[in-house]
Amino acid sequence: MLIELVSQGRKPDLVLTADPGAEKPETYAYLDMMRGWMANHDIEFHVVRYVTKRFKNYPPYNDLAGSLLTNGCLPSIAFGRSSCSLKYKAAPQEAFIKTWQPAIDAWARGEKVIRYIGYDASKRDGQRYAHAATIEDPLFDNSYPLREWLWDRDACENRIRAEGLPVPPKSSCVFCTAMKPDEVRALPEYWLRMIVLIEARAAPRLRTVEGLWRRSTKSKPGRMTNFIRAERLLPEAEIDRIIASAPTSLVRFQEAAAQEPLDTRPTLETWLERFHAISPEGGTNAKASLEPLDAQQCRRAA
Ligand code: SF4
Repeated sequence: MLIELVSQGRKPDLVLTADPGAEKPETYAYLDMMRGWMANHDIEFHVVRYVTKRFKNYPPYNDLAGSLLTNGCLPSIAFGRSSCSLKYKAAPQEAFIKTWQPAIDAWARGEKVIRYIGYDASKRDGQRYAHAATIEDPLFDNSYPLREWLWDRDACENRIRAEGLPVPPKSSCVFCTAMKPDEVRALPEYWLRMIVLIEARAAPRLRTVEGLWRRSTKSKPGRMTNFIRAERLLPEAEIDRIIASAPTSLVRFQEAAAQEPLDTRPTLETWLERFHAISPEGGTNAKASLEPLDAQQCRRAA
């Protein structure tokens, strides 16, 4: 959509990407490449993120994975809802635009901001479009160029190739329910461990779904962890260790951190660094590194 808009002389004034902090590595690499493409075409571009401000008694965290681990839950998409997307993708973009001077000026003139949305001309996106088109927004007029041009995904891919650019991978959080088995197979170990951890941390509270893939079907299990185990994407012993000890260690870390004032409280990142530093086989060093921090250690870690 962006490439064609530019070639038609309809260059947007601003491009935003909302980053929930858990996109695939290939997506971040593609974004970096497109950053250069947009700079060459003199397009203003920003990456925006949802910033959590109220941590109650929790160690501070700064992305969707941190929220899931802190609260012991799965992304709302796993329960058939969309609040994760609204909070981590839609809301930060709207918040940015509300501070962006050209938008403020347009609203002051009684105009609306035109927002380009990349729903394509396929049946599936047609359903999303039908829903979105019914929503009247006092600040934005939505425009759907791909539907205007009757482009489906194949047409988009052909246009990207014609520009001499590679076709990007499908983007989503690595632990999204929409992830396909092949996409999970391609993940680095860092994110495989995080998926096992997220499901293990949330497991005690799950009643209506088994895990990130909701419920087991003939093609895949409800828990991504079971898939990671069956496909030997992580060593069996490492998966068992994470399930057996990491959620408990994390909760105890949170409890110890809660005793600290916010400005000296250790962040969730400090615990995650130790979690990922553990060798797959476990061992004494590894075991020690997941021991919860007491209040004094919390101060040092902070
Ligand atoms: S990609 Fe999936 S998990 Fe991430 S915000 Fe969107 S719906 Fe939620």
